[in-house]
Amino acid sequence: MACPLCGGEQSGASWLGTTYYRGREFPYVECTSCGTLYCAPMPDASVLAEMYGPDYTQEGGTAGHVENPKEPGRVVEWLARLAPGTFVDYGCGQGELLIEAQRNGWQAVGVEFSEEVARAVAARTGAQVFTRAHEQADFPTADVLHIGDVIEHLTRLDEQMQEILRLIKPGGLLLAQGPLEANTSLFTSVLATARRLRPTRRTEMAPYHVLLATARGQREFFRRFYLEEIEYTLREVAWPAPSGLALADLGRPRAVGLFALRRCSQALSALRPRVWGNRYFYVGRKPN
Ligand SMILES: [Zn+2]
Repeated sequence: MACPLCGGEQSGASWLGTTYYRGREFPYVECTSCGTLYCAPMPDASVLAEMYGPDYTQEGGTAGHVENPKEPGRVVEWLARLAPGTFVDYGCGQGELLIEAQRNGWQAVGVEFSEEVARAVAARTGAQVFTRAHEQADFPTADVLHIGDVIEHLTRLDEQMQEILRLIKPGGLLLAQGPLEANTSLFTSVLATARRLRPTRRTEMAPYHVLLATARGQREFFRRFYLEEIEYTLREVAWPAPSGLALADLGRPRAVGLFALRRCSQALSALRPRVWGNRYFYVGRKPN
């Protein structure tokens, strides 16, 4: 199986190794060209149905204050800078960006995986919200399409990205953001080393993120789809470490350790902002 991001054919064992979810094994390999870790083989339809079923909740249960790492503000800044047209939020969640886009004079359209969520968001925001966008003949194509924290969940990435790009007008913009969980940072290195020192430790983890991307792999991915890069920036956020500590956390060495490690890591990454960090924000133009 080729690397879903850069398309490289060669891979080897990764520091994450094999994870387990409900008795099934999910091995993660490391791409030799770009360093991205990916699940090979990818979870199949039955595993996806199980994972994203009624029990699905966004990651939680971490100690301390875990901030939401997304940057809706940067999307809104882009919308405010451009002449209003059609804005599509692919993976619109609760629809916060749809409301902001409408406020800036844009026609806002959402795409959401769950029909129940789609209906509720449409009713609340007044925006059209689709579930299977690429199959709808009446889908309003986008001048600007935003995809935030979605790519790392996609198991047929080449095919699914082509479907997503078809929703953008020629010359339109793609705004994308998401985690770079295998990119260079002190935090990731310590995590990987700790993992290598305890190779027999069994990790129980649902394969929600089928990709742990590097900046290089993520950037190459957009290039492979002939998008013209306008912006590609990195930063390091606390997630999944806590962004602050409460008094009660001081008795929890793991929370304190992660918090301190992230602070050091952020300080180091700030020295090389073009290469180090754990999140990206990308803007690219679809060719005419
Ligand atoms: Zn790769």
